[in-house]
Amino acid sequence: MRVTITLLALFIIVIMLISIRHEDKTRSAVPDCVDLRAAVWLRYQTSKGEVYVHLYLVKDYKNASQVPMLYVVVEVKEHNCAHTYSGYLFLHNRTMIDEGLGWYKFPLQIPRGLQVEDHVLLYSNLDFKITGYRILDISLDDGRRYSLKCLVLRRGEDIMFFDSFSGVFIKGDLRIGERKLYAMLKGTNLVWRTEQYRFHVDWYKLREYAKEMNNTIVGGVKVIVKSIGRSVLGRDIYAFILNIEGSYAAVVLGGVHGSEIVSSTVSMRLVREFLEYKELLKLLASNRMKLVVIPMLNPDGVEAGKIMPEDYFLLYSRANARLIDLNRNFPYRLSYTGGESRACTLIHSEIHPLPEPEVKALMKFLLTIDNMVFFMDIHSGALTKVVIYPLGVRGLDYLMRDLAENVASVIQYDCAFTGPIGQSYWWVYGALKRPALLLEVYRGEDSYFEIYNPSNEEEIENIVQEVVKVLRYIIDNKEFIMRYLEKLSEQR
Ligand SMILES: [Zn+2]
Repeated sequence: MRVTITLLALFIIVIMLISIRHEDKTRSAVPDCVDLRAAVWLRYQTSKGEVYVHLYLVKDYKNASQVPMLYVVVEVKEHNCAHTYSGYLFLHNRTMIDEGLGWYKFPLQIPRGLQVEDHVLLYSNLDFKITGYRILDISLDDGRRYSLKCLVLRRGEDIMFFDSFSGVFIKGDLRIGERKLYAMLKGTNLVWRTEQYRFHVDWYKLREYAKEMNNTIVGGVKVIVKSIGRSVLGRDIYAFILNIEGSYAAVVLGGVHGSEIVSSTVSMRLVREFLEYKELLKLLASNRMKLVVIPMLNPDGVEAGKIMPEDYFLLYSRANARLIDLNRNFPYRLSYTGGESRACTLIHSEIHPLPEPEVKALMKFLLTIDNMVFFMDIHSGALTKVVIYPLGVRGLDYLMRDLAENVASVIQYDCAFTGPIGQSYWWVYGALKRPALLLEVYRGEDSYFEIYNPSNEEEIENIVQEVVKVLRYIIDNKEFIMRYLEKLSEQR
C-alpha cells in the first residue's frame, strides 16, 4: 500500500514537473507583461449594463517598489445598482493583488506577440488556449471605427477576443468576482497607431529580425545579434554586431526615447543597408571596423507608444516603464541640470538617479567593446536637423566640436552643443573618453507621433542614407579620430 502511495506521489510530481516545463516552453517566448499606463480607461457594454475600468498611478510608487504597478478600479453597473472593485496590477508579469475581482492574472490585456496554440493565464490562473484569428469590426462611442485582427481564446465554454495589435480584450465572456458577463468594448481613450507602425519597427518585428540575422555570414562578414540585457518589463535589448572580427568599433544607438521610433526604424534599416550592399561591408572589412547597432534601448516605451492616448503619448513612450527618461539617466555629472529634463513633470525628478535597467545594460555592454572609436545616438523632434556634441567640461572639447561640424557639413545638418544632463553620448564622451555625438534626424508637425516620426518611406530612407554618410565619414577619417583618442587618453 505504502509503495503504491509513494509511486502515485512520484507519478504526480513527475506530471507536475512536465506540465510546469510545458508552461515555461509555451510562454517564455514573449514577456508576460502589459503595456497599459495610468489614466487609461476602458468601457464595456454588457447584456445588463456596463463595466468601466480605470487605471491610476499608485501614489509614491517609486518609493514603494522598483516594480511598476497601477491601481485598477472596476465599476460594474447593472440596472440600477453599481459594484466597485479594485486592485493593484504589476505591469511586468500581469499579476494582481485584488479584493473580490478574482483576477490574479489581469484579463483585459494579453501579451503581444502570441500565436495560435499558445496558452495564456487569465483570472485566477485559468489556462486559455489561442485557437485562431477573427477580424472584428468595432465602433466606439466617440465615432471611431476599427477593423481589428483578433486572437480567439477559449477555455471550456468561455470565449474571449483580444486585438492582436494592442493586446486589449475586445469582446467575450468576462468574469468579475462571481459574475460572468458578456462584454463588448464600446469606449476607450487608447489610440491604435496601426497605420503609423506599417512604416516603423516595433519590438516584436525587431525580435524577429534579431533571430533571423544572428550567427549569419553575409558577404564574408560575420553577424552576431545578442541581447545585452532586459527592459523593466522584461523585453530583450538587442545589439547587432557586423564584422565581429573588426579591431575598431563604431556604435549606433536608437530608441532611447520610445516616442522617437524613427530612430529604431532607421537603426534597423541601417543594419539591413550594410548587409545588402557589398561595398559597405567591404568598407567595414578593409578598415577592420566593426559596426555595432543597438536599435531599441527602450522597448517598453516603444510598445506603450503604439496605443497610448494622444495626451499621454509623449509622457509614456518617451520614458521607460518606471517613467524615467533614459536620456537623463546616464551617470555623468548629473548635477548639471538642463532645460529639457523639466519637459515632463513625471520624468526624472531626481538629481542623481540610479541607472535604470536599460541604461545599466548599455553601460555594461559598451564597457566590453574594445577600441570604440565612435558613438552616435539617434533622436528626433528637435526644431532642425542637428548634430549635437558635448561641450563644457574639458579642454579637448574643441576637437569634438570640429568632428561634429565636419559630420554636420557632410549631411547638411546644423551643429549645436549641450552640457551633461544624463544623456548617453555625454556618458560615452565624459566617462569612457570616446568621441560621441547625438543626431536629431527629423522634425514633423501635427500630432505628437508625427512631430517625432515621419510616416513615409522616402523620408525614412533619406535618413538611413544620412546615417550611412556619417559612418562613411568616420571610417574615412579614422586616423583623425585615433589621434584624438590618444590625446584624450593622455588627459586621464
Ligand atoms: Zn530623444
